[in-house]
Amino acid sequence: MNMADKYDVLIIGGGIAGISAALTCRNRGKTVAVVANSTESQSLYKAEKITNYPGTPEMTGKELAESLKRQLDSCGADIIHGRALSVMNLGDSFGVAVGNDFYQATAVILALGITREKLYPGEAEYVGRGVSYCATCDGMLYKGKKVALIGSSEEAYEDVKFLQEICSEVEHFPKPAACEIRGGMKADTLVVNGEEHKVDAVFIIKDSIAVSQLAAGLEKDKTGIVVDRSMATSVPGIFAAGDCTGKPYQLAKSAGEGNIAALSACEYIQKRR
Ligand SMILES: Cc1cc2nc3c(=O)[nH]c(=O)nc-3n(C[C@H](O)[C@H](O)[C@H](O)COP(=O)(O)OP(=O)(O)OC[C@H]3O[C@@H](n4cnc5c(N)ncnc54)[C@H](O)[C@@H]3O)c2cc1C
Repeated sequence: MNMADKYDVLIIGGGIAGISAALTCRNRGKTVAVVANSTESQSLYKAEKITNYPGTPEMTGKELAESLKRQLDSCGADIIHGRALSVMNLGDSFGVAVGNDFYQATAVILALGITREKLYPGEAEYVGRGVSYCATCDGMLYKGKKVALIGSSEEAYEDVKFLQEICSEVEHFPKPAACEIRGGMKADTLVVNGEEHKVDAVFIIKDSIAVSQLAAGLEKDKTGIVVDRSMATSVPGIFAAGDCTGKPYQLAKSAGEGNIAALSACEYIQKRR
């Protein structure tokens, strides 16, 4: 693991909320890293035409997403390509795992978009005991063994190829309708659409990680991560912005919340100095 990098603010999510937060943090002179999935994974990218965001008449979602990406690339924030797997509270800072790497920051802003909290039966129970969210991190533990991978993203297909190089067999289920993970002390069976598959490990590769799995102690309600008006979550030092805090799912709301979360994170850092 790479323990070298420590930032003032680490932002998880490179959509409009995360980019807005990054721009404001940089304006305030903070060191910033943004953990970003592909631009295509953002909600905005799928919008045919944007008609209600000030200053962008007649823009497609793709055009606006690409314009925001250019702004992010030139604002002086570090971009960490990949998926944040966990946020750990280290007392005076946070540690964020992205694949095999580990980054530290004084404050964290979650800008995850709409997060799907639904876990497969057995998923939470067996994480770390035969269920993994990261093939490159844990694949070698299953060298020569039979594994299964659930996921249909580009990353999932790359991980299948990687696992095929080291495992005896890889069963790939891109979009299973129903799944359950079973086992004893460790996961040993994946049930897909009622059919049992004996495996030594199950890799689950989704674009986002359920909030409950990403960071311990974060309060959630039916619509999203619970925040106050400063975008502070129930964990001091972690802020949230955009669709992940709930409705309305709108660009202007997401950008505004990103801005507030950034200002609050800067204030939080200032008070600790
Ligand atoms: C088809 C469509 C049309 C729309 N049209 C409009 C419109 O006309 N006007 C309007 O105001 N709004 C519209 N919206 C809504 C708008 O696009 C969203 O409200 C806004 O883009 C949300 O921004 P966000 O940054 O919160 O989330 P997102 O854009 O979803 O960005 C979140 C990013 O975080 C990433 N992420 C999640 N978890 C992790 C992790 N663990 N590690 C790293 N990255 C992670 C995601 O993959 C994603 O890239 C539309 C949405 C859709 C789907």
